[in-house]
Amino acid sequence: MLNFEKSKQAFQESSRYLPGGVNSPVRAFKNVGGEPLFIAKGDGAHIFDIDGNRYLDYVLSWGPLILGHADPQVVKDLQAAVARGTSYGAPTILETELAKKIQAIVPSLEMMRMVSSGTEATMSAIRLARGYTHRDKIVKFIGNYHGHSDSLLVDAGSGVATFNDIHEAPGVPEDLAYDTLTVAYNDIEGIKQVFSAHGEEIAGVIVEPIAGNMGVIPGTADFLQTLRTLTSEAGALLIFDEVMSGFRAAFHGAQSLYHITPDLTTLGKVVGGGLPVGVFGGRKEIMKWITPDGPVYHAGTLSGNPLAMTGGLSTLAQLDESLYKQMTARTDELMTGIKGAADAHGVPITVHHVGTMWSYFFNQGPVNNFDDVQKSDVTYFAKFFKALLQHGIYTAPSQFETNFMSSKHTEADIETTIAAFNAAFDDVART
Ligand code: PMP
Repeated sequence: MLNFEKSKQAFQESSRYLPGGVNSPVRAFKNVGGEPLFIAKGDGAHIFDIDGNRYLDYVLSWGPLILGHADPQVVKDLQAAVARGTSYGAPTILETELAKKIQAIVPSLEMMRMVSSGTEATMSAIRLARGYTHRDKIVKFIGNYHGHSDSLLVDAGSGVATFNDIHEAPGVPEDLAYDTLTVAYNDIEGIKQVFSAHGEEIAGVIVEPIAGNMGVIPGTADFLQTLRTLTSEAGALLIFDEVMSGFRAAFHGAQSLYHITPDLTTLGKVVGGGLPVGVFGGRKEIMKWITPDGPVYHAGTLSGNPLAMTGGLSTLAQLDESLYKQMTARTDELMTGIKGAADAHGVPITVHHVGTMWSYFFNQGPVNNFDDVQKSDVTYFAKFFKALLQHGIYTAPSQFETNFMSSKHTEADIETTIAAFNAAFDDVART
């Protein structure tokens, strides 16, 4: 058994100062039991806890680290940047360079604004949609997560689904919740009904085209195409939240897989390479509504921060189609191995993956929406997660989250991981 003594002590100490001992809820391991690992360092595909245990890491800071931990070029570029000062509150060329690079990869972002988190990106996109259309209502899908701003916490996935009754959002004014209409994910009839009842009041529809906050659930092509058609007809904006799927589901984002052009897109995670960055952008005519060009207010002391821009630029510079081919092939292989291991042990499982995003549900399937996810065996999941840790594999500590692949995960790492899954199924069978 691995020794977690130092992490245990660190958690006792942190719990005196931070609610739940953490700064973001799913990190706390509360749903799987026990205490979280406190991390000392990361190196490539591995992280090391403060007790000196080493793990293959598939959380990768919840997505951003597509090049793994402490990529040598990213570290070098950040070291050079920090020596020039950490923030100026005035424009730098880095911001334009990153914007150009993003636009070259995801062309629907004709103009964009940099912010410091995915939450800020979606919150700002929603305000822009409301300002631009002069309408208040927005539509989101049950089990999609778009950060923790008021309007978007209703029926949300991720930590909300892990810890709360998702229909309740204490602290969110009722009036705001009233303006957020929710529909089941992949429910074409449901969204048609909402538009026939409220079409003229709807400012925008926000959707994760590949949902990643109830595990991985791809939107169906018909569903996403229906959203495009309904929003266009009603004069509402279609917002693709690609904070997770951007540079993950595919190099050019989920929108490239479906050949659908949203009006606005939000990005985060990979786009900052492990530093705090979010982006919202889209059609120029809409983005021109942002201050100081237009009336919709948006600002940020650290927006476009030079270190954050450098983290993003240095990371995106290393990405190309061939790297995605390699990472996707390794993800495919891992999924086949996990499915095979579960089948060999008679454990019902459904595995989903798109590009470098992957997850598995202890659930017979099919899994197409939040109701389906909830049929998963979360008790088995908690046991299995802990067994995997014992075999040196660090995955997302919740059935409602996504795991990721990095460029640093090797063939040998995949084989190690599949062997660990087999061993973990054996361990759980013995308990
Ligand atoms: N949108 C999506 C799709 C996300 O996955 C997340 C975070 N997991 C967010 C928005 C919020 O981003 P952040 O945590 O950086 O605020």
